[in-house]
Amino acid sequence: MSDTASHSYDYDLFVIGAGSGGVRAARMSSANGARVAIAEERFLGGTCVNVGCVPKKLFTYAAHVPDEVKDAAGYGWTVGAPRFDWPTLRDNKTAEIERLNGIYEKLLSNAGVTLYNARATLVDAHTLDVGGETVTAERILIAVGGRPNRPSEPGAEYGVVSDDMFYLDELPKRAIVAGGGYIAVEFAGILHGLGVETTQLYRGDMFLRGFDDDVRAHLAEEMRKKGVDLRFNTIIEKTEKREDGTLVAHLSGGETLETDLILYAIGRSPNTDGLGLEAAGVETDAKGAIKVDDDYRTTASSVYAIGDVIDRVQLTPVAIGEGMVFAFNTFAGQSRKMDYRDIPSAVFSHPPIGSVGLSEAEAVAEYGAVDVYQASFRPMKNTLSGNQEKALMKLLVEPKSDRVVGLHMVGPEAGEIAQGFAVAFRAGATKADFDSTVGIHPTSAEEFVTMREPTRRAEASKAAE
Ligand code: FAD
Repeated sequence: MSDTASHSYDYDLFVIGAGSGGVRAARMSSANGARVAIAEERFLGGTCVNVGCVPKKLFTYAAHVPDEVKDAAGYGWTVGAPRFDWPTLRDNKTAEIERLNGIYEKLLSNAGVTLYNARATLVDAHTLDVGGETVTAERILIAVGGRPNRPSEPGAEYGVVSDDMFYLDELPKRAIVAGGGYIAVEFAGILHGLGVETTQLYRGDMFLRGFDDDVRAHLAEEMRKKGVDLRFNTIIEKTEKREDGTLVAHLSGGETLETDLILYAIGRSPNTDGLGLEAAGVETDAKGAIKVDDDYRTTASSVYAIGDVIDRVQLTPVAIGEGMVFAFNTFAGQSRKMDYRDIPSAVFSHPPIGSVGLSEAEAVAEYGAVDVYQASFRPMKNTLSGNQEKALMKLLVEPKSDRVVGLHMVGPEAGEIAQGFAVAFRAGATKADFDSTVGIHPTSAEEFVTMREPTRRAEASKAAE
């Protein structure tokens, strides 16, 4: 709680950045009695609401529609050839985002948080410049998030980044997505689904590093089946722009590819340029992320940081969780800790991925051996429609304890399914618990509670061979 001494400052807490983490930290700190202000230079709600999770998911829904239309025939429906209007989707999405911006503004004002629609920079560990005004605070919380990286090869300036994808004037006929993280994979699915001839390039052997290898391979196969031109071990070396606007990408390996749009989704960097970190004594690591301890305190004792800018796990629920830990520990005398283990996640690819716990490689590295239960099948919905898309379900069980240590799925509603199982997972469910759970029939998810015999045992010695 703030004491009398803190009243020599304008605020008990000043939050820089009204994104996922900053807004939650500001509201919860205020609810616990702190006098709180927050500065936002661009858009209320931050990356997730404006150029991340939310608009991306709305686009994903749009991109699934052609599949539904195709599937309809097998179910007896005659549907005319679908026509797509990009400005309608873009502008409906923008209207929804503006509605959410308004909700965020209300959340902050209802919580008694003072909002500055301005850029804030640090002058020292208690002082900020907020749009030209000097403001002081007993504590400062940096929640400035990140921004997309741009490459430096010749002609890279003709490309766009994920922020731009939500406001394109027109949808291209052809597109190249460069990158192999989840954002690249999701945009490749969106573009292809919306009817764009899509090529995805990735510099490594297989995209989605860190995910289970079977999941990665399964998704690659399904994306190729749908018609995405996936090319691994390939990068763009330079790009030229013709007078008619066509981009010509020169790929490693010598090939050239004509396209109308190049999206670079090659990673994100902390948003700390010109923030005044040095003036406040806040140190960063080699990648530019702000260094913090378990209480999110930086190397300057009155300055804290949460969310993407500390580069622990770059997901909205994690930024929110960190904001809650900060607020309750700082202003309510609690000693919460954020648990970074077993964070469930989804990739809204086509088809989507849902995952919780360890990949097979991680599980083998940690436990030496795991039993793998794996099934790949055509979901019932695809039988009458003739859709060839297959689902993958995979459980990893540590044999000595019988604990399920990894759960992975590729297929419709994978994110929704993984979220449900994540609770059982966190409660320490064993394979016997899964087996004794009655399935919901007919669903795809029931496969997770009906896989009786292991497909194989994965062992460290075998993995090393
Ligand atoms: P942000 O939400 O980025 O907020 C930071 C805010 O600070 C911004 O509004 C910025 O304008 C403001 N700011 C920066 N500097 C200043 C300054 N000096 N003064 C004032 N304001 C400043 N996560 C998921 O969990 N699920 C998803 O499906 C998902 N999809 C994504 C898709 C894309 C394309 C992207 C880019 C990200 C996605 N994410 C997703 C990640 C998620 O958006 C981030 O993890 C989350 O937004 C991080 O929250 P944050 O509070 O750290 O930062």
